[in-house]
Formats: sequence, C-alpha cells, structure tokens
Amino acid sequence: MSTHLLTWLNGQLLPTNQACIPVNDHGLLYGDGVFEGIRFYRRRAFRLQRHLQRLALSARVIALEIPYSTEELEAVIERLIEAFADDYGYIRLMVTRGAGPLGLNPKSCSQPNVIAIADQLTMIELGQQVGARLIVSSVRRLPADGLDPRIKSLNYLNHILAKIEANHAGADEAILLNAQGRVAEGTADNVFIVRDGCLLTPPCSEGALEGITRELVLQLARDNGIETREQSLGVYDLYAADECFLTGTGAEMIPVASIDCRSMPGCPGPVFGQLQQAFRRAIDQECGGII
Ligand code: PMP
Repeated sequence: MSTHLLTWLNGQLLPTNQACIPVNDHGLLYGDGVFEGIRFYRRRAFRLQRHLQRLALSARVIALEIPYSTEELEAVIERLIEAFADDYGYIRLMVTRGAGPLGLNPKSCSQPNVIAIADQLTMIELGQQVGARLIVSSVRRLPADGLDPRIKSLNYLNHILAKIEANHAGADEAILLNAQGRVAEGTADNVFIVRDGCLLTPPCSEGALEGITRELVLQLARDNGIETREQSLGVYDLYAADECFLTGTGAEMIPVASIDCRSMPGCPGPVFGQLQQAFRRAIDQECGGII
C-alpha cells in the first residue's frame, strides 16, 4: 500500500478515509487526548525522539496511558513513512482517551485510540516566501494554571478563535497574548524577534508550548554566535522589532512581514536568513535532504 493520506490506527495501516474511531471517543467529545505533529524529510522523521518524549509527557500529565512503548511508536512512524507515497510529508500522531459514556468522566473510557495520519503538507501557506502578515489577537492564551501550555492536548479552541480573528482581518496568523498581556505564541507556532542583533523569544512560562523547533533555533543561534535571550515581550516589542519570525514543525521558519499593519523593517532579515540556513543544514544532517 503506497498512497497519500495514509493512516495507522491501533495497529492497522489504512487509507485515511477508511480509518474510523467511534463517535463517542472522548477525543472528539471533549478534546480529551494528546498529539504531536511530526515532519519527515527523505523518509526520515525529524526530531522523532523529542516528539515522542513530549507526547509521553503530555499523556502522563493528563493521566492517559499510551498502550504502546516509545520504541513501538517509533516503529509505527517508520512503517507509516515507508508506506507513504512521498519522501516528504507530515504525520499527525494522536492518542485519544477512547470511547466512553457521554459524560466527561474518563474513568469508564475503554482503550485509548492511537492514530497516526500521514499527509502531504498543504496546510502551511503562511507566506514562507513573502512573509506572514500577523495580528495580535484579542483572544488570550489559556492561563497555565488552567491548562499548562506544555501539554500538547487536543484542546485548541482558543487558538482556533484567534485564527478566525486573523482570517477575518485578512491576516495569515495571530499572536496570542497571555492573561497579563504579554506575548505567548502563535496559533501553532512560537514567536521570535530580533532587536539590535539579539534574538529574543518569550519564556514558555509566559504561555507558549515548548516548541521543538523553538528549542532547535535557540541552539542554532547560540552555535552561530548570535546572542539569545528568553525574556518577557510585550506588544511594543513586536511592533518595534527589527525582525520577527515564527517557528514550528509545520511552519518550519516563517519570516513576518507585518504585525497589525506595522511593517517589519527586515523581512526576511539577516538574522532570519542566517538561522534559516543553519536550520536547513540541521535537517540535512539528520534526514539527509530537504527540498
Ligand atoms: N505552539 C503551538 C500552540 C503549536 O501547536 C505548535 C506546533 N506544534 C508550536 C507552538 C510549535 O511547536 P513545534 O516546533 O514543536 O512544532
């Protein structure tokens, strides 16, 4: 079987439109589950160990037992990539609470469902070439004492509301602030700015996911002699930045052209350019090829 839109579901490889889970799965009813988005290049998953680690931690924190070991999940991903029609693509790995009674209590849910969908990446059209137009959303990131941002759960509704606001404004992406009005992250990406040659990004404690791309970009910056700081940022810092860019597995690295109609002086700026090259080299090293 070699096709686009391929799914591994609880041990079986299926065309995605034939992969079914019960409608009373609590993943669907309540967003009760965790997930990862994983890219592969030249049929090799990028940063797979880090993704599986984060999935395991997210699951542990929401008291969800994944019925497969990390090694087994690694083999699942490899098998799915092997069967996929393309050398390059994206995998959505999900573990849901499983089917259960309509009430939200997870205690009577049956087995978790483990799902891995492989697809081509058509989802990223954020202006990788020309730069993304951003808005600062009026939708605030859920506070960490409500839902810790380190949990990559299926509950993305406040990010979706921010994205709707961006769509409505004719923008490509929205930045969410935390309850204190400090910069948290994008709807599916982390935010960086450059000021006076220094690379700045908010600490995850401000309400950002501990992005795997974010972690790599910070490392690459240090390796390349670029000063980096994780520090709290406000809207002023975004507007007044020399450069701004987004990072994420799906997004990779996307330069920002404007924020709330304020044009960025550099798009793509020199620090972005340097880091993007280093990022491509890192992919090359790990996976042996990037388009
Ligand atoms: N923040 C959010 C809310 C996300 O969904 C993502 C995408 N996983 C990111 C940041 C970027 O994280 P990563 O680099 O691990 O993909």
